[in-house]
Amino acid sequence: MDLSLTEDQQAFRDLARDFLEREAVPHRMRWDREESVDLAIVRKMADLGFFGLTIPEEYGGVGGDYVTYSLAMEELGRADSALRGIVSVSSGLVGKSILFHGSEEQKREWLPQLATASTLGCFGLTEPGTGSDAGNLTSRAVRDGSDWVLDGQKLFITNGTWAHVALVFARTSDDGPRGVTAFLVPTDTPGFVAREVTGKLGLRGQATAELFLDGVRVPDAARLGEVGQGFRIAMGTLDKGRLAVASGCVGIVQGCLEASVAYATRRTQFGKPIASFQLVQDLIADMSVDADAARLLAWRCADLVDRGEPYGTAASKAKLFASEAAVRAANNAIQVHGGAGYVDDFPVAKYLRDARVMTLYEGTSQIQKLLIGRAETGVSAF
Ligand SMILES: Cc1cc2nc3c(=O)[nH]c(=O)nc-3n(C[C@H](O)[C@H](O)[C@H](O)COP(=O)(O)OP(=O)(O)OC[C@H]3O[C@@H](n4cnc5c(N)ncnc54)[C@H](O)[C@@H]3O)c2cc1C
Repeated sequence: MDLSLTEDQQAFRDLARDFLEREAVPHRMRWDREESVDLAIVRKMADLGFFGLTIPEEYGGVGGDYVTYSLAMEELGRADSALRGIVSVSSGLVGKSILFHGSEEQKREWLPQLATASTLGCFGLTEPGTGSDAGNLTSRAVRDGSDWVLDGQKLFITNGTWAHVALVFARTSDDGPRGVTAFLVPTDTPGFVAREVTGKLGLRGQATAELFLDGVRVPDAARLGEVGQGFRIAMGTLDKGRLAVASGCVGIVQGCLEASVAYATRRTQFGKPIASFQLVQDLIADMSVDADAARLLAWRCADLVDRGEPYGTAASKAKLFASEAAVRAANNAIQVHGGAGYVDDFPVAKYLRDARVMTLYEGTSQIQKLLIGRAETGVSAF
């Protein structure tokens, strides 16, 4: 489905697919079992431009539009969602927060490093006691002369043990969401400890961590945006992040469809390819429709961003639909594969395990519905 893609957009997508087929697909099962991708892939992805997409050239990025970004995220999701998360957290959530809210000095310091992945970033919002209700987070930053001292704990932080810089959201006053401020914290700052969260259902190739902040001292120059603006920065950034999640989910659905078609046309039962059975075609048809519908929602959102139009609700719709579709498609893909789908010889079991978190992070499906409901009714259910 190539609805009005430019030659450049198609060229990047083809380049990305070719690269990932060679460098990621043959290794993804091993990375999954070893609970870590080979970090050499990060440098290779950076060389291809994955981390620099949508970061302007003047800050060391490769520029580019959000439709291209969406295509790149789709290809990453199709190949290995663990890789998609590494890119979209580091250059997406952290890079874009700096691009849109950082001082000129912060942009010049961090963006070239994030765009080339010589530095990885992590996004520290969630805490043990606050996930969906992030505006009530309890980590604290207290002013001490020209510094800030941070104390608290973060949970489930992607890239947490690999990152060189953490974007940490901490409370600077008791004024609810308006009392949250953002800080760029180098992870080698004394008092900053990251501990790996193991035993995840999926996304096993990617680092997920608990962060402990114990008297972490940073200068005021590490503050991102104004005091009290942190929650707005986080929510604005997550809107764009949802486009990345949605696009990655399109890749999962597409991967499930391709794997199912390949298997169903090869596997014979009752003397015929199982693709000839109507009930198997039913499963495949649903995947095909979901792939198109999810992709169109993601592209619509990307196009709105590129045109400078409001895109928040479109991002919620794309994320809600695509993440639920990814779980549905992966589940159906296992059904098409029968018992073979339950083991690692085919990618579909991994697709299901990786897809499952997509309806949870960057705003659960319930939270997306509340955001869409608020946009439709003008009434907030929060
Ligand atoms: C692998 C992984 C990676 C992650 N990476 C990051 C990261 O990089 N940075 C980061 O900050 N966080 C990250 N997270 C955290 C993630 O964003 C949260 O898990 C998510 O926001 C949900 O929060 P919670 O887990 O506390 O669930 P809760 O908020 O406790 O929700 C539990 C259930 O209650 C429902 N619920 C909550 N409030 C409402 C409501 N008002 N109405 C209806 N239903 C409601 C939810 O939909 C859900 O079904 C990651 C999580 C995972 C698993």
